[in-house]
Order: sequence, then structure tokens, then C-alpha cells
Amino acid sequence: MDKLEALKTYFGHTAFREGQEAIIDSLLSGRDVLAVMPTGAGKSVCYQIPALLMRGITLVVSPLISLMKDQVGALLEAGVPAAYINSSLTPGQSRLALERAAAGRYKIIYVAPERLTTPSFLRFAQGAPIGLLAVDEAHCISQWGQDFRPSYLKIAEFVELLGRRPVVGAFTATATKKVKVDIADALGLREPFCITTGFDRKNLYFAVEHPGNKLDALRALIAAEPDKSGIVYCSTRKNVEQVCDALCGWGVPATRYHAGLPDGERHANQEDFLFDRKPVMVATNAFGMGIDKSNVSYVIHYNMPKDMESYYQEAGRAGRDGSPARCTILYSGADVRTNQFLLEHSEPNPDLDEEMQAAVRERERERLKRMTFYCTTADCLRAYILRYFGEPAADYCGACSNCETGAQTVDATADARAALGCVASLNRRFGIKLFMDILRGSKSERILRMRLDKSPHYGTLHQQSEKYVRALFNTLLAQGYTALTEGEYPVLYLTRKAGGILEGAEGLTLRLPKERVHTAAVPDTDIAVPELFARLKDLRSRLAKSGRVPAYVIFTDASLRDMCRKLPRTPVEFLEVSGVGRAKMERYGRAFLEEIEAYCYQNGKA
Ligand code: ADP
Ligand code: ZN
Repeated sequence: MDKLEALKTYFGHTAFREGQEAIIDSLLSGRDVLAVMPTGAGKSVCYQIPALLMRGITLVVSPLISLMKDQVGALLEAGVPAAYINSSLTPGQSRLALERAAAGRYKIIYVAPERLTTPSFLRFAQGAPIGLLAVDEAHCISQWGQDFRPSYLKIAEFVELLGRRPVVGAFTATATKKVKVDIADALGLREPFCITTGFDRKNLYFAVEHPGNKLDALRALIAAEPDKSGIVYCSTRKNVEQVCDALCGWGVPATRYHAGLPDGERHANQEDFLFDRKPVMVATNAFGMGIDKSNVSYVIHYNMPKDMESYYQEAGRAGRDGSPARCTILYSGADVRTNQFLLEHSEPNPDLDEEMQAAVRERERERLKRMTFYCTTADCLRAYILRYFGEPAADYCGACSNCETGAQTVDATADARAALGCVASLNRRFGIKLFMDILRGSKSERILRMRLDKSPHYGTLHQQSEKYVRALFNTLLAQGYTALTEGEYPVLYLTRKAGGILEGAEGLTLRLPKERVHTAAVPDTDIAVPELFARLKDLRSRLAKSGRVPAYVIFTDASLRDMCRKLPRTPVEFLEVSGVGRAKMERYGRAFLEEIEAYCYQNGKA
């Protein structure tokens, strides 16, 4: 069997994606690999296919237990003998797995890094023909990465202890130059074939909104995609609870996930999401690593994340099967301050000395700044992302909110001066909302009671919309002309920088998105036969239920869509469908062919 046959037979794909073939060739020829590919680009087949074609066993080091279980489940489903060894197994199960592994029962074994150097695992590995060692999430080995895990340092030690050195492949979705060098060093890669594939995910639509009311904005976004699966990320557990309650109140089938929930509940909620019993997940960033649910149609960030690395990884969980998907951030200035607070109050990493710790903090601050710029730029969002990750990009992509709405920049210098003047006159007295009320000439009880309607600044921006004034204050804050005190009731004050505008030396431009109408966000225009699509989905969920697997493990939406396009009538035609390999053909071919047949018959397409 050659690599293309393996791709088709086991994974049901007809062509390699960018980078996959070169990586596979390199590993098969015995050369180490260092591959940086964005989430969803298809890293797994890059080591799974060599594993199938090589003699011996492939070990895959992975940090996440849930990921291992999913991947092994998917491999078994595809007819590949695989197993995992991690702390979720009892000692008895572990022993049994190792015995079977030693007997050559598995082609691929997933293993947690801290297991590698345990006596029982070492004994097995030293006696077994290990042909390939694949290291997933390889950036975890670097102290400069965003997710340093000391247990990853055991990998090199493990390789040393093996009698014969296997070929080593390192894979990650995010790595700066420095991290790449670190990975190669720490793993002892030998003249590795290095490849960084395109970071662009063309099927993802990127959007940033600056809503006055986030819950309203969220509601509109979710209402635009009924029956779709999505993830809503929030920065805190409290937000998760509130947002999830709100969603459930609107009748959205949502569940939640954060580190404050008991293990059992968290697990059950995750399963509800994976199996589409609750297709909408509200979660903190604790959720998602290792979740490769392929039919996620949208990822909404209710709060701005802490850096672009996290953002692109989390947003990248949308549209994994290649279907169009939408990634939206609901930005507010408060998100910046929450992140600042979390950053300054985070637990120091015990593996770093003080100096290194300070350097890490500084980098984190810088990353937060770049994240904030993403949310306030008027330029193409895709271009911003690609350039952030060091890739050249065109100025216009046509598939992000800035390109689409043609966000306008207006000169807001005079209004900025009015706003800063107002803050100056009542410095450190009130929060943003009250300043907005003064400037807009509100007749609220609070304004009148405090006689703020007598202020010379009262109503000076009365002709501007609330959205505009909010954007003005957000921008002044984001660009450091004002700042907020810490604490429960933050109040606004001027910074030294404000002088620039007040004295007329500096100007301020404001990015104002045109009002966007929420229409069906992801049009299903590429579903050839919507009625058949619905029937196939229905069939899939029945099969999923009886087989106790998540629906997308049977077929992805992309596969169902391809069936609607190709209307296969014979097993051979069915094999032509994207995502259909031999094992799935044998297991599910008949059921799906019958459904398609019935549909065609009833609709005169026989
Ligand atoms: P990563 O680990 O890089 O995030 P995965 O390996 O989980 O990505 O692959 C993401 C999705 O892409 C999966 O649904 C997988 O089936 C699909 N995929 C991978 N390679 C191909 C290919 N050559 N053609 C079509 N789909 C592919
Ligand atoms: Zn764009």
C-alpha cells in the first residue's frame, strides 16, 4: 500500500493537504520532522500514515487524555489497531495494554509524557520495535511557548534510554522562531525537515464586534445559526455561568464547562456537547484542547482572549471539516482590564526563576497589547492574524468583518477633546457609563440628583449615538489616554498621554464599523439537496446513538454534503465521497446508500 492508498483506505480522503505529503515522505525516509501547522490543518495523518506504512510501532506523545481517547477512538473506527496509555487507565488495564503492545497488537500507541520513563513502559519500549516517535503539541517542551510542560522534557531522556533511536516527528500549531529552535534542541532532532504550512484557514470568517450590550449581540449571533453547533468562550467561570443561564433561558440547548465544576459534571457536559445533545458549549479556555469535534459552525468569544495564540487556537476549533464557519469576538474595554488583572495576578510558574518569570510577564503584556490591537484595528482581520504569525498577507480578504463592512475611520479629535475635558473636570470620580451620560445629556435620575446637568460638559456630544460615544471611550482607554482604577467600582482617570489631545498636539481617529444586520451567518448554499442532507443527518444521529459514538465520528458534515452533491448509488461510488474509507464503507455504506436510494426514488431522481 502506498501513502495515497492509505489516506483513502483508512481516512477516506482523496488528496493530501498542504505539507502532509512532504512530512510523510520525510518520516518514511527516516528523517526527523519539525512541523508547524495550524489547528485543523491535518497534523494527525502526517504521523498516522507513516505509522501504518512503517514496520514497527509508532508512539505518539500527547499531553491530553481526552485527546488520546478521541484519537484512538477515531483510529479504531477507521480500522487501525491503536491504544493509549495514561493515568485514566487502572494499573490492571495498563498492564494488559502493555502486554498486548509487546505482543505487537497495536500499530499506534498514544502515551502521556510522564509515562514514558516509568519502569513498566520503558521495559516495553526497550524490547519493542519502535519505528516512529511523534510528539504532538511539541511547543509544550519550550519555556518560551505559551504552555510549557516540564513533563515534556522527559521525552529526550526516553529516546536516550531506547536502544535504537526511532525517527522523531514534532508537531505543533503555534511556534515562534525561538520556540522552534527550542523544540529541535530539547528533542535532539537530527537535521530535521522543518515546515510551516499556511496559517490561513480559508473557510473561517473573522469578525469583531464592539456591542453596547454583549448578551444582545450574542443572542443575535446564535439566533442566526439555529441548530448549529458552536462554542462560546468566556474569560471567567462567573461569566460562563451567567451566559449559559441566559442561553438556556432563550431556549438554546447549551451546556457549560469550567474548572470549577466537579469532574463528573464537566465530563458529562463535554459528552453532551460532543454527541450534539447540547450543541452549544459555554466554556472558559479550560475547554477545547484535545476536542476535535469537526462540525463546530461558530466560535464566539464573549470576552477578548489574552493573546493571539490562544485566540487563533480557540477560533480554529470552528470549521474543522472545511465547512464555512464564523469566529467572532465581542470586544469591550473591560476585557482588556480583566486580562491585565489576570496577567498581573497569575500564579508564577514554579519551574522558572525570577528573572525568567519577569521576562515571561513582559512577553505576556506585549501579547495582550497585540490582541487588543486586533480588536480595534480597522484593517483586514485575516491579514492581521497572518502577519502576526509571520506570514505575508494581502490587505483585503473579503471574508472578515472589516473587509465586509468596510469599517470607516473618522477623525474624532474634537470629540476626544470634549470627552477628555469632561473626565479632567471630574477626574477619578466616576466610571465610563456616567461620563457617557453627562456628555450625551442624559436625564437619568442619577445625573439630575448629582446636578451633573449643570456641568459645562453636559450634553456636548448629544448629537452622537451611544455606540459612537462608547467606541470613543473604548478607544481612548485602549490607546492609553485614560485608565481605570482597580477594584470593584473602577473609576476613570486621565493619563499623562491625554495632554497630547487636550493641548491639540495629537489627533484621534476612530474605527466605526457600519451597522451590521445579522443575517444567516453561514449560508448553506453549498448543500446541493437540503432535504436529503437533513435525512442523512438524521440517519447519522440514529447510528451515533446506537453505536454510542459522537455523530461526527461516523461522518462529518462535509462528508454528508458531498453525498448530497454526488448522490452515490453503489458502494464504489460511495467510496468516492470525501471522508469515506474502507472501514466506514463497510460499517455504514449500506445504511447511507439505502437512504440516498430512497430519497432519489421518492423524488423521481432514480
Ligand atoms: P490538527 O491536528 O492539525 O488540528 P486534524 O489532524 O485533527 O488537525 O485534522 C483536522 C480535520 O481535517 C479532520 O477532520 C481530518 O479528517 C481532516 N483532514 C486531514 N487531512 C485531510 C485531507 N488530506 N483531506 C481532507 N481532510 C483532511
Ligand atoms: Zn479581511
